[in-house]
Amino acid sequence: MRYALTVVQKNAPTTPVRDLSSAEIGTLVDYFQGGVRTPKLLAVLQELHERKQWVLCGCSGAEQLVERPALVVARTGEGKLYIRNIPSRPTHSLECPFAYTPTTSTEIVDRGLNADIARRALADQPPTPATLRSPLDLHLAPALGATSGTSAPTKHRDRTPSGRGKRYPELGKVLFYLMEQAGMLTQTAEFELLKSFHFMAKAAQAILAFGAVPLSDVLSFSPKTLDSLTRRVKMHSASGEKNAFGMAVMIIHEIESLGAGKYELRRTSSEESWSCCPKGEVKIMAKRSISKGPFIAAITYAVPLGETEPVPFHVFAVPILNRNRTLPVESDLERRAAISLLRLFDWALEKKGLKFTITKPVFDVQAPMGDCRPDFVVKGLSRTAIVEVMGMMGSEEYEEQKSRTIPVMESLAPVVQVDLSGSLSKSELDNRLRDMNKAILNVIFNNEPR
Ligand SMILES: [Zn+2]
Repeated sequence: MRYALTVVQKNAPTTPVRDLSSAEIGTLVDYFQGGVRTPKLLAVLQELHERKQWVLCGCSGAEQLVERPALVVARTGEGKLYIRNIPSRPTHSLECPFAYTPTTSTEIVDRGLNADIARRALADQPPTPATLRSPLDLHLAPALGATSGTSAPTKHRDRTPSGRGKRYPELGKVLFYLMEQAGMLTQTAEFELLKSFHFMAKAAQAILAFGAVPLSDVLSFSPKTLDSLTRRVKMHSASGEKNAFGMAVMIIHEIESLGAGKYELRRTSSEESWSCCPKGEVKIMAKRSISKGPFIAAITYAVPLGETEPVPFHVFAVPILNRNRTLPVESDLERRAAISLLRLFDWALEKKGLKFTITKPVFDVQAPMGDCRPDFVVKGLSRTAIVEVMGMMGSEEYEEQKSRTIPVMESLAPVVQVDLSGSLSKSELDNRLRDMNKAILNVIFNNEPR
């Protein structure tokens, strides 16, 4: 090992405590690369964990300790210790044995991490073309791991009271992958809706829909191209492809229940009016009430058994900030907070020339104290703030959950909490949102150490 691995205290990460011995480094490398757990490894992990220490890697050549990649020992729910990278720190050099490479779920199982971690990774790891099932059968198995709804669109509750993530339906995973590639999960100053759909089309080239057909060949972003989409699906279907389907990813303005488990999806603008009634399931990503759109929705098109014409099948819909900004929001309260964040965003850019980004994590984020899923992550040039929208204060279960997850988030970045629960007057609501904005500015642009 050519590089020093320096141990520091988590709460004093600029002061070196000691360097790891080459024997200690060897056990860590064996574990990190091959999943080998030895008593020696356990002793190293235990010591680091008990003493609340991080290991800083010298591979990148960074002089300053704060600029080095950092590893932390964490404990699983079952009490097993493991070591992992802290994603908010700089990354390792490519050839470093501790360099993080995204793994597929199978690899994670093979690495000997315990089943709980593997399961959670399956549930919450951001998908890649390799982990998206191939060939996809989105119209046949849309609801993998999710419940189906009959009386209301199924709200996909990704955060159960235990804080454990649920699996997104396959269709949801594909949509989030495409949205991520399109830059839609982060609001930046450069974001343009039309351009982002272009990036989405490009990303879809890497995914096989069925047979040898790339998803991009059977993808539509507007009602205008739906005819050509269904023509291609019909053609593939008629030529014996049982799994033929197409997918539309579109901004939907309203979703209305028609009863008996049926819904109408509508696009309404001055130029167009379009609607459809999907034959299959309609799922909406929401953790609390969502009373109105817009949404971004993935709609599959396929030929039902015994028929010849493709019809809209299943839907996974994600509430978004507004018609031009696709930042996901999971409740009406979150949308209110996001609108306020956006005002701050525009103000900082126009009046101060300051840029920041707003991200909505849709998968778990690794923090030094465990995995968490903040409501929003706001990033300045060098500082990050987490925004948590409190909307159900008074519910014991909810408060208990928050009291556990807030410290985990605090280990990642300062958390700005905004309580929008109860019946607030317009001015009370505005005051709280203004306080939220002030607190965020303070965290991401001031110069005091946090
Ligand atoms: Zn390294």
